[in-house]
Amino acid sequence: MERLIQKIKQEGTVLSDGVLKVDTFLNHQIDPQLMWDIGTTLKSLFAESGVTKVLTIESSGIAPGVMAAMQLGVPLLFARKRKSLTMRDDLYTERVYSFTKQEESEVTVSRKFLSEQDRVLIVDDFLANGEAALGMARIVEQAGASVVGIAIVIEKSFQPGRDKLLELGYRVESLARIASLQDGQVTFIED
Ligand code: 5GP
Repeated sequence: MERLIQKIKQEGTVLSDGVLKVDTFLNHQIDPQLMWDIGTTLKSLFAESGVTKVLTIESSGIAPGVMAAMQLGVPLLFARKRKSLTMRDDLYTERVYSFTKQEESEVTVSRKFLSEQDRVLIVDDFLANGEAALGMARIVEQAGASVVGIAIVIEKSFQPGRDKLLELGYRVESLARIASLQDGQVTFIED
């Protein structure tokens, strides 16, 4: 997605060889027009997939997720992150290792919002090792629902997430694919 790539080139900050900061438009301050354009692109990619619900994870997936959900005409559901490990039987729960916090947390979704009939589009802001996306996919599968695809705003293609998801048979659509963050430079995979 050309506009997104330009925005990353202009405003992204490379924090290390593995981490990109985009807090001017996605992770802190949000650019609503860019989010709308992301929603439009995701609608064109998944219009024929019979999506009934978009699932993301709080908090940075919510902005692109809600725009995709709005344009697909379905609700947005966000998985919650919580520290306590108390099991509750009204929740689907998965453990996810956080790339940015380097700690495991629990992610939960209320059982009342996912059913066997759901066809779920998973959306997230970044793809690194695939832990967040896999945690969400496991929640969808716990509900007996289907994952129609995994849509990522920024994929770091030099990290293993994409291959893990493809090996498991998921459709992965990333709007910007980064080949490298070495030497403070963002290099993209051109489609
Ligand atoms: P994964 O679970 O695929 O290892 O990492 C994806 C999650 O970690 C995303 O939900 C995102 O919040 C965070 N993340 C991973 N890499 C980056 C990065 O380079 N920059 C930022 N801002 N967040 C990242």
